[in-house]
Amino acid sequence: MNRKLLDKLTFSVVPFKAAFRSLFIFRVSHTPRRIWNLWKILFSMQISRLLKTPFVWGIPPMVMIEPTNICNLKCPLCPSGNGDMARPRGRLSLQNFKKLLDDIGRHVYQIQFWNQGEPFLNKEFLDMVRYAKKYGVMTQTSTNGHFIRSLEDALSIVNSGLDQIIFSLDGTNPETYAKYRVGGDFNIVLKGLEFLSQAKEELKSRTPLIELQFLVFKHNQDELVRIVEIAKKNKAERIAFKTAQIYSDEQGFEFLPGDESLNRYEYDGQHFKLKSELPNWCKRLWLNTTINWDGSVSPCCFDKDADFAMAYLFEENIRFKQVFKNKKYRAFRRKILTDRKSVEMCRNCTEGMEEPYARIVELNDEVSLRRFIAESNQPLAEEASSEA
Ligand code: SF4
Repeated sequence: MNRKLLDKLTFSVVPFKAAFRSLFIFRVSHTPRRIWNLWKILFSMQISRLLKTPFVWGIPPMVMIEPTNICNLKCPLCPSGNGDMARPRGRLSLQNFKKLLDDIGRHVYQIQFWNQGEPFLNKEFLDMVRYAKKYGVMTQTSTNGHFIRSLEDALSIVNSGLDQIIFSLDGTNPETYAKYRVGGDFNIVLKGLEFLSQAKEELKSRTPLIELQFLVFKHNQDELVRIVEIAKKNKAERIAFKTAQIYSDEQGFEFLPGDESLNRYEYDGQHFKLKSELPNWCKRLWLNTTINWDGSVSPCCFDKDADFAMAYLFEENIRFKQVFKNKKYRAFRRKILTDRKSVEMCRNCTEGMEEPYARIVELNDEVSLRRFIAESNQPLAEEASSEA
C-alpha cells in the first residue's frame, strides 16, 4: 500500500471536518464549570511542559471508565483475552459509578466506557450511560459487537443516549476475522451493526455515531478497501485503521504486516522497535485518566494490570480530585517529564509518536473516501470477486 495512506494520520485528532461535524451530533453541555476546568487543566499542562515540573489545576476532561475487564473473546494480543492480565476480574457496580459521576460529572466532557474487557458484559452498562447523559457528558464505548442480538437490544442502546459506538471488525470475511478475534463470529457482528442502524432509523436518531475499528495485521492488510465497502453498506459513519501493539518479537513476526508503513514498529535485525523517538512528555497525564472497574486509577489504558495505580477510589473512599493531585500521580508525571524511557510501559506507547499509527476515514465524506480508495491501490469487493 502507498505510504501516503497513513501519512496524514493522528490518533487523538479526528480530521478537522469530522471533528466539526461531531460537534453537532454529540450532545454535550458546555457549562461554565466545564469550560473553566478545561481551561485550567490546559494551562497547567502547558506550564508543566515548559518548566518540566508538574502542575495540576483542574481534572481531566476525558475519563476512561472500565465497565468490566471480562471478555467473551480470546484475542491473542489483548491481555484480557490471552490470559496475561493478572488483576482480578470483575464488573463496576452502578452504585460505585454513580458515586464517581456525582464527584466528577460536572467537570468532565467525555467518558470513554472501555479499557480491557467487553463493556456489554456489564448488565448495568446502559444505566451508566443514561446516568452520565444526565450530567450532559459525551459518552462513547467500544465493543466486539457480540451483544446486539435483536432490534430490541439496539433500540435500548439508541435510547440510552450513547453518543458513539466503536465496533471492532478486523476482517472482511469469517476466516480473516476469526484469526485475531478468536471465538468471535463475523456474522453476529454484522447483524449487530444492521440492528443498530435500523434502530437509529426507526428512532430518527443521529446517535450513536457508528465507527468501525480495523486493526491492521499481516493476515488482513489486503482488505482495507473491502472493509470500507462493508462499513458503508452497514451504515457505519467512520472507520479507524489502527496499527497493532505488540509485546514481544514473536508477536511481531506473527502479526505485523510486512509493509512497514502499516505498522508502528520497525525491525532492526534483532528486535521490533517503535519507529519514533519518544519525547519526555505525555499530555494524557493531564487530559485523560483511566478508572478501572474496582476503582483503581491508572495513568492511562496502557497500564493493563494497574501496576501504576495511583489510588483505589472505592476502597479508600476518596474523591478523584485528591487522587489526581496526589504524590504518586505527581511523581509519575515528574518521571515522564524528565526520564520517560525509564518506564517500560511508556516505551511501548504511541503518545508523542511522530510517525502516523492510525487513520480515520469519514465514510460520508466522498472526497476523502475516493482519495483513500485510490491511494490504497487495493481492489474493490466486486473486482476482487470477479478476479477470483
Ligand atoms: S504509557 Fe506512559 S507515555 Fe504512554 S500514555 Fe501512558 S503514561 Fe503516557
